[in-house]
Amino acid sequence: MRSHNEDAARAEGGVFVVADGMGGHAAGEVASRIAVDAVAELAGRPDLSVDDLVAQVGEANRRILDSVAEHPARSGMGTTVTGLAVVRGEGGREWAVFNVGDSRTYRFADGRLAQVTVDHSHVQELVDSGIITPEQARWHPGRNVVTRVLGRPALRSVDVWLLPPQPGQVFVLCSDGLSNELTDAEIEGILTEAGGEVLVDAQAVADELVRRAVEAGGRDNVTVVVVATGGAPADAVAPDSEAPREAPTGHA
Ligand code: CA
Repeated sequence: MRSHNEDAARAEGGVFVVADGMGGHAAGEVASRIAVDAVAELAGRPDLSVDDLVAQVGEANRRILDSVAEHPARSGMGTTVTGLAVVRGEGGREWAVFNVGDSRTYRFADGRLAQVTVDHSHVQELVDSGIITPEQARWHPGRNVVTRVLGRPALRSVDVWLLPPQPGQVFVLCSDGLSNELTDAEIEGILTEAGGEVLVDAQAVADELVRRAVEAGGRDNVTVVVVATGGAPADAVAPDSEAPREAPTGHA
């Protein structure tokens, strides 16, 4: 139902990223494009660290501000960003999941879907405070209000989670055009129908998720990246915890 697309995505060289721009036609889409292109510059870089990743998100923020300085008509543009990259942690290679704003990264493993990222949004704060339930958040009039975006002079921290490699796990990165139309249970159902952890065709799953979100209303741009991991990296450590743990966060 949207005449133009303010979302952007890149997937290459062990780096996966989705961004959802705001600021109107020819501005939101500029901001989201700058963000995914900046993060994708890390693709294929060996020995990537969490600090590198956080620094590059900060770089994306600076480039958006530079673009506004150069083109005042773009004033106010911003973007969310979420993504996934292979980083070298203390015990070997790990997945680093990051976000700013309300674009999400989910992880599907052992037949269950879990949201890894925590939205930076007004409704998430209300849920955290116990004022509304997650179900009420889905229909709350303020559900589109994000509390942290790229494109603001003082970028607050980038949240990062480190996850051990696990053969067969599937990551779903998406803009809120997916998560506003489909519940977590519906997304989980689509992954399960697709074969769950023996999933091989990530493209088919991404296509199906978008199709179902459009069918459910498609009130916003819908962008999805599906990452299906065939096995653990060769030098991976054994998973020692199922729970995502928060890495030190950085500032930019
Ligand atoms: Ca959106």
